[in-house]
Amino acid sequence: MRLQDSWRVRPRRTVESQNRRPMTGRPVDFERWCTEVALDAGPELKGWLRELFEREGPVSKEAAGSAYLLAQIDLAERCVSVVLRDLHRTSGKRPDVAVDDLEERVRITVDGGCQTPSMMAAPWDQTDALVEVADYLQGEVMGNEGPAWPVCPTHDLGLHPLVVADRAVWWCEPTSHEVAEIGTLGRTS
Ligand SMILES: [Zn+2]
Repeated sequence: MRLQDSWRVRPRRTVESQNRRPMTGRPVDFERWCTEVALDAGPELKGWLRELFEREGPVSKEAAGSAYLLAQIDLAERCVSVVLRDLHRTSGKRPDVAVDDLEERVRITVDGGCQTPSMMAAPWDQTDALVEVADYLQGEVMGNEGPAWPVCPTHDLGLHPLVVADRAVWWCEPTSHEVAEIGTLGRTS
């Protein structure tokens, strides 16, 4: 690929350059920018915004919102691939799953169907996101009348995704036991 070709390719996941403010005049202070972008940002959001600020500079509020959504979509994609590993290992189902956005929310489409928002977890909430996506995919894959998935190999009962001690696991509810970490279900070794 020639250089001229490569720079014409628009990077897929960066903040749109037209939304960046011109970096002229005095450097913008992070704290002031942060208050403008998210007035009541908690410590986690603030940490996330600081990384964005260091990477992209004092972008507009809209651009920060887009960056947040893109980070959620990236996270949702990673969670989908983890949960699909469980599905592929423990069932014959091979749904067509796509992740994108609709009306500034994450959308996960399963065989053409979806409910939005499909995942609300923040970009830094990886465990919550995994449980949320597992729950969503479980619902979409099972449908209304489908057989339960996944099933406890010991009790033959449907499992539930749950956060247990900061880990995302498949949980067998009636007997309160963990079957596997999400992403390792049905793994033999
Ligand atoms: Zn069980």
